[in-house]
Amino acid sequence: MNFLTSLFKPEHERILAKIRPIVTLVNNFEESIQKLTDEELKSKTTEFKDRLSRGEDFDKLMPEAIAVVREAAKRTLNMRHFDVQVIGGIVLFKGMIAEMRTGEGKTLVATIPVYLAALQGQGAHVVTVNDYLAKRDGEQMGQVYNALGLSVGIINSNQVSYMYDPSAKQLDNEADTAGYYKVYEEFLKPCTRKEAYACDITYGTNHEYGFDYLRDNTVIRIEDKVQRVHAFALVDEADSILIDEARVPLILSGQADDAAELYKVASRIASILSPEDDFKLDEKLKAIQVTKQGIAKIEKELGLDNLYTAENMKYVHHVETAIKARHLYKNDIDYVVRNGEVMIVDPFTGRLQEGRRWSDGLHQSIEAKEGVEIQSESRTLASITYQNYFKLYKKLAGMTGTAMTSKEEFARVYNLDVVPIPTHRPIARVDLSDLIFIDIKAKYNAIVEHIKEIHKTGQPILIGTVAIEKNELLSQYLTRAGVRHTVLNAKNHEAEGLVIAEAGKRGSVTIATNMAGRGVDIKLGGPQATQEEADEIRALGGLFVLGTERHEARRIDNQLRGRTGRQGDPGKTQFYVSLDDDLMRIFGGDKVKELAKSLGVADSTEPVSLGFLSSRLEDAQDRVEGFHFDSRKHILEYDDVASYHRTLIYKRRDGILSRDEAILNEIVEETKSRYPDAGEAIDAKRSELDETQYKDIIGRVALFALDRLWSEHLDLLEQSKQSAGLRSYGQREPVVEYKKESIRLFKELENAWYGQIAEILGNLDTKAIKEQQPTVTTARIS
Ligand code: ADP
Ligand code: MG
Repeated sequence: MNFLTSLFKPEHERILAKIRPIVTLVNNFEESIQKLTDEELKSKTTEFKDRLSRGEDFDKLMPEAIAVVREAAKRTLNMRHFDVQVIGGIVLFKGMIAEMRTGEGKTLVATIPVYLAALQGQGAHVVTVNDYLAKRDGEQMGQVYNALGLSVGIINSNQVSYMYDPSAKQLDNEADTAGYYKVYEEFLKPCTRKEAYACDITYGTNHEYGFDYLRDNTVIRIEDKVQRVHAFALVDEADSILIDEARVPLILSGQADDAAELYKVASRIASILSPEDDFKLDEKLKAIQVTKQGIAKIEKELGLDNLYTAENMKYVHHVETAIKARHLYKNDIDYVVRNGEVMIVDPFTGRLQEGRRWSDGLHQSIEAKEGVEIQSESRTLASITYQNYFKLYKKLAGMTGTAMTSKEEFARVYNLDVVPIPTHRPIARVDLSDLIFIDIKAKYNAIVEHIKEIHKTGQPILIGTVAIEKNELLSQYLTRAGVRHTVLNAKNHEAEGLVIAEAGKRGSVTIATNMAGRGVDIKLGGPQATQEEADEIRALGGLFVLGTERHEARRIDNQLRGRTGRQGDPGKTQFYVSLDDDLMRIFGGDKVKELAKSLGVADSTEPVSLGFLSSRLEDAQDRVEGFHFDSRKHILEYDDVASYHRTLIYKRRDGILSRDEAILNEIVEETKSRYPDAGEAIDAKRSELDETQYKDIIGRVALFALDRLWSEHLDLLEQSKQSAGLRSYGQREPVVEYKKESIRLFKELENAWYGQIAEILGNLDTKAIKEQQPTVTTARIS
């Protein structure tokens, strides 16, 4: 290869070219490492740490360290990292996204970067999409880490935590290879949250890491903090966590006063406003804009002269949210009503999101619209976007089967490069081109016929849908056609994992929302299949994946396709689409129908060949993905403002919590200089108390005032975001307006803070301070 061709190679090719020689070095160590006893292998960890502390270059030590991890995996799991897995591991340790297909063994790949990071002594966090996977992976890979003398903690929801403990039960190798997907709780012992974080390696979900961080910044005693530093995070299913889930910020909230009546009024007003005249609707962006006429109507209904005053701002927000609730959020699609409760349906997985609530009053507005009990409004105690949470880490890495289509977003938002890793074996999967139907009925009938036909041969079929209610519809069709099948309705990750693992068995027909059971391997013939049984399925063509609709994001379609053809297996995929599908409908399906009429195929029950349609579909996907990217950037732009304040406040908070002398002095001096009257009183109080009492009291007062003001500040920022949006009528840039306003609000916060400190310190009375002592509000997710 000459100089010029290498110059024009894509960036990731150059990265891979640099890494390949390291793999050779790792392989060269294999022979000598193999000879070590288990004890000697374990002691390598201490040796590496020593060498690092004596200043040895990490890159120099890396090949040997990787060879050690590989040997430990061989001994404990009977799996030897393939060379491509070593490449993937190095890419991850360098802080990038490794795109590795489903079934390539990313769970094992993770042990390389995680071990390397753990050597640096500040802890490594592995991030999974659900509790079940955190437990499964933490426990299975825990065997490797344990053989290397490292501790492993697992954090689950509801404050449940575990630690890997080899003494819990001796490993039964046979059960292990056969039942990979099973959670071996025998190797875990319960522990505290803090202990799990104190381990060298921690496994948990994005949700738990994020909320623990927020909770840590609401504790009133420093010893109640559970997390340590944010050194290294490895995110599994990175696209799902860093992109799809990053559309909703994390909000930790406590209860606030009841505003149920206001939601009802707003809901009534929304019901008499008419689309187009009173407000404009943007279905794609899930946004609305009230027109001048609409504003006048709202003012009349509320009996107000002017909506645009500070006090009345909240009404605008309520009515706008009520309009959204009525026109943009649909029952049984975006949410379901069960037992008088509004439950969110995750648009990507189709799962019901137990206990999750939309923020910003949207949930209450939908409750008002559906006429169910309006749950009391909560107050924000802390909030952060996933983007900003993950940016806290000194080093961030991610792995997933589908990242290249979101390369730009990873680069721009997280500063992460995406490197596609070659597969261990050549890919044998065949992706058939889409079949296009005029309407849903023709499509479903054809799908059922096709399934019957494949099913007769015994070839297993996995059917992907985009939403729960479509699952049920398809299930009815199949029942009528007499095809036995399993439906995954995604309520329990673990049970779901067991079912999806069986999807490769002879004759099985499984219907699942597109991402159900993500992270669980589908082996041909089933999880316990013998070589013979697996070969039998191979001869039938492997797993057939049938997509019943194109998803908004091409990446999610690719995820579904990736369910088959793992590790060089045969497999086929095919998507069925119709002009009635949402994606088509929003992007001009009607026009296409007109065209179909003119071509005389409007009543066709057969697939129609409208060649231009496939590219049109991909255009539509591009556009929707673009919208979503924009909306995430938008959330981030706003959160960046709060993030700057958050960093300042949390730093100050930490100083107060640890009763840091310098910070406490600074607070007192600043208080005195802003409120000179209070100065004498403060000095007088100081002489009455001993040093510890004095410091403690200042700390408590400052903290209490800070937490309350911060919570209020978050609500004010939220409101100002709304009003900045409204002012954009006047052609002003909303984010710029918001930034200006937030600076003003922050100055107010500081002034109010010193004011409150001055007031309380000046009137110090031990008893009063005891009454002021805050209680930790029970966290609720909104
Ligand atoms: P991914 O997360 O990439 O989809 P998994 O981590 O779930 O893949 O692994 C898929 C399967 O491959 C698992 O059954 C795992 O045991 C197996 N596997 C992974 N790496 C190896 C290896 N080096 N040798 C043998 N089997 C492996
Ligand atoms: Mg996986």
